[in-house]
Amino acid sequence: MAQHTSFDVLVIGSGAGGSTLAWRLARAGRRVLVLERGDFIPRERENWDPHAVQVLGRYGADEQWYDADERPFRPYTHYCVGGNTKLYGAALLRMRESDFGEVRHHGGVSPAWPVGYAALEPYYGMAEQLYCVHGRRGVDPLDPPASTPYPFDAMPHEPRIAELYDDLERLGHRPYPLPLGLRPAADAPPRLALFDGYPDPTETKADAHVVALRGALASGNATLWTGAKVVQLITDARGRSVTGVVVERGPERTSVSAPVVVLACGAINSAALLLRSANDRHPHGLANGSGLVGCNLMTHHNGLLLAYGEAENPSPFQKTFGVADFYRDGRHGALPLGSVQLMGRMHLQGIAELARESLPGVDAAEIAAHSIDVFLTAEDLPSPRNRVSLRSDGSLRVEYHPTNLGAYEGLLAQTCRMLAAADALHGRRAPVFLHQRLGSSGVTHQCGTLRFGTDAATSVLDVDCRAHELDNLYVADSSVFPSSAAVNPSLTIMANALRVAERIDARL
Ligand SMILES: Cc1cc2nc3c(=O)[nH]c(=O)nc-3n(C[C@H](O)[C@H](O)[C@H](O)COP(=O)(O)OP(=O)(O)OC[C@H]3O[C@@H](n4cnc5c(N)ncnc54)[C@H](O)[C@@H]3O)c2cc1C
Repeated sequence: MAQHTSFDVLVIGSGAGGSTLAWRLARAGRRVLVLERGDFIPRERENWDPHAVQVLGRYGADEQWYDADERPFRPYTHYCVGGNTKLYGAALLRMRESDFGEVRHHGGVSPAWPVGYAALEPYYGMAEQLYCVHGRRGVDPLDPPASTPYPFDAMPHEPRIAELYDDLERLGHRPYPLPLGLRPAADAPPRLALFDGYPDPTETKADAHVVALRGALASGNATLWTGAKVVQLITDARGRSVTGVVVERGPERTSVSAPVVVLACGAINSAALLLRSANDRHPHGLANGSGLVGCNLMTHHNGLLLAYGEAENPSPFQKTFGVADFYRDGRHGALPLGSVQLMGRMHLQGIAELARESLPGVDAAEIAAHSIDVFLTAEDLPSPRNRVSLRSDGSLRVEYHPTNLGAYEGLLAQTCRMLAAADALHGRRAPVFLHQRLGSSGVTHQCGTLRFGTDAATSVLDVDCRAHELDNLYVADSSVFPSSAAVNPSLTIMANALRVAERIDARL
């Protein structure tokens, strides 16, 4: 087996966490090798073909996982350079300050993080700069205090969306411009019609590949291996540090080593890799003295809501605001519900499926032309029952039993009521609502499987996101989250990756 040893840091995975961390370390002069199991997504006509992307899953992982009842499913996740950010919706929000403390929910208590908001604040600012976030401070009442301005002003609303925004304000709600990661476009205005769930051939979307990894490679200090799946981490005889990683590249197996190894495979695969790397010193998986590796998987309760009303909505890009009202206590009651955001337009086949029962015979194009597309997110709570484990043939079992669903149901009801009230202001009939809660295969917001903390008995990683049991193993993806909050996770992953990179740089 060939051996490679000329790197300071190995980064496993090139998504939000891995590429951002690699960018920071490469710019600091560290020699970084990024190991990515996928390849580049080609820039091709199919990038914006809803049938190819959404129905056939052209860029999705060609894998089968198993649920708690041993039912196989194809996970909605992406193995490619840039990871899931290649298809993400680039809504880049800071977690709310209260999310870092304990929060009481319908379904129990969301635990505190081992660091407060202040520890991440400077890194949030750096991540907003790197990912070209367009936003406006001082409007979102829950946006935490920030020491830096957004690098770009918020995206303008399309006319129908501006009308809805004003209506919600008239009703006493608190809409705010949605912070979005968009590179300054060569064409103005940028073409953004197909956005959430699609790779962007114009490279306007600020994803981890075009923004961070490309910058790392341009520094001359980073190397990228694609098609490089890490299958095992090897430790020294005492099991105290990682001495190498085993990489499958096509038919070949290679071993690579470096003083520091960083896991950033996404929460499910990072945990699986530690479980797969069990040895005499770590019989239940690396760094698993607590028994928590793979546990506490969270995915958010996410759902799509289409409000089919009388008013036309010809907006190509409508994803320009969110609503803060239901995130904490408020008119809806004492317990939090979650986030409401507009999202990219839904494709016609998806609409037709949603409408089959409630609107039989109504053309999907007619529904699309009169709908507002909304994305709902409620927090799910960590539970040891929700976990990643290995089956006897090495494949993945992902057990997930929803927690805190009451919050999601409340959020859905409040959002429908709010949108109906907005239409009533114009004397329009209440919209027909088409709704789908994303199921457990939709692991787009996966997190929590390697939580960080101060106590080795109740966490896998220390406060610097270094394994309690392995001196040179760090984690920089969403695995580290002790709670999921109810905001989109990427900006927090990126900010924390910058924080972890700084610790690694200091150590090196
Ligand atoms: C359609 C969609 C819309 C989304 N919208 C938003 C949004 O608007 N805002 C937001 O904040 N988030 C959004 N997300 C979620 C966001 O993309 C993820 O939270 C984020 O990318 C997770 O970052 P990560 O670093 O943890 O993992 P990932 O980005 O998933 O990266 C993990 C990488 O590791 C690689 N890998 C896995 N195993 C191995 C291995 N064994 N060896 C080598 N490489 C490996 C994978 O191929 C992948 O490239 C969305 C996701 C999707 C799919």
